[in-house]
Amino acid sequence: MTSKFSLHHHSLFTKYTLILIIMIMIISSLDFLSAHGDHHSHVEVNHDDHGHHKPTSSSPFGFLKHLEGSKKGDKVQGIRDLKKYLQHFGYLNPTQITKTQITGHSLNDNSINNDISTANDSTFDDLLEAAIKTYQTNYNLKPTGTLDSQTLSKMMMPRCAVADIINNDTRMRSKKKSTTSSTKNHVHRKLLGQKYVSTDDLQTVSHYSFFSGKPKWPSSKYSLTYSFAEGMLSEDVEAVGRAFQTWASNTHFSFSRAQGNTKADIRVSFERGDHGDGDAFDGAGGVLAHAFSPTDGRLHFDADETWAIGEVADAFDVETVALHEIGHILGLLHSSVEGAIMYPQIGSGLTKGLNADDIQGINALYNVVV
Ligand SMILES: [Zn+2]
Ligand SMILES: [Zn+2]
Repeated sequence: MTSKFSLHHHSLFTKYTLILIIMIMIISSLDFLSAHGDHHSHVEVNHDDHGHHKPTSSSPFGFLKHLEGSKKGDKVQGIRDLKKYLQHFGYLNPTQITKTQITGHSLNDNSINNDISTANDSTFDDLLEAAIKTYQTNYNLKPTGTLDSQTLSKMMMPRCAVADIINNDTRMRSKKKSTTSSTKNHVHRKLLGQKYVSTDDLQTVSHYSFFSGKPKWPSSKYSLTYSFAEGMLSEDVEAVGRAFQTWASNTHFSFSRAQGNTKADIRVSFERGDHGDGDAFDGAGGVLAHAFSPTDGRLHFDADETWAIGEVADAFDVETVALHEIGHILGLLHSSVEGAIMYPQIGSGLTKGLNADDIQGINALYNVVV
């Protein structure tokens, strides 16, 4: 009797231990799933009011803050990082650069000697000055070649990781005549779905641009499929889906979600740090996303950013960034029109739609007559 009881007690103990172990396993596997299923942090709208957490010096572009007032001839810490920054976005090319390729204007002869060494030292040289001038022109700033606070705060803005200039043969500003006032005439209206109504196109100066060599989808391929990486949040999937529909409503393209295991034309995913395509992401702040030119189809969001749906303080809107990156997928490069979705930068807490400049760019690339 005693031994039977003790046996019973023992088996009871084993049973409960087993249940406990199974429960612990379930709980930890749920933890594992949620940690891996949620690719990035979405901010909650009702977050507690502890002030803002805008990336400043901790941002990957934070080094720029210390360069204010630097000018030609200076040797300042951080100039080397600025050269890397300008190289990444296409303004400096350490090996192939020539004095006429940057600005289209001749510099003085000394600049030739700096061709190779420019990206490797911390000297503010002629080529850096020329690169800054090009940057300032592209971003509608006075091309002074100096690092004033306006230029630096532009450079510190979160942006797309795709370069503004590729192989020195693309430019953000079109060859069409532009005047100083033209940059103020950009179209502010949003294009939402079919609601696009243009009233002052005649005043609009286009500044869209294309990738080097103008890659595009073949004319027979106007109906493209897209897919999402496993584990993406449904709200992100829906937001990117809306961005595809906005492009479909305003261009000759149509988009549909790929069925089954067929390889989609466009593949969307959240990636972190170095993710194997030669253009590593940089953590929170800095670059937000990138996409490849036609007909590659890869579209990557930086998983280290704080993403949101709509206008949420200190977070980036998935749909707005998707609209921009789909522009690259279709063959557009950056535009210097601030209201265009293809403008390289986007602030946090903001949303943006398509602009006449974006539509004109796609129509010009695909010879669509409107
Ligand atoms: Zn871009
Ligand atoms: Zn990537």
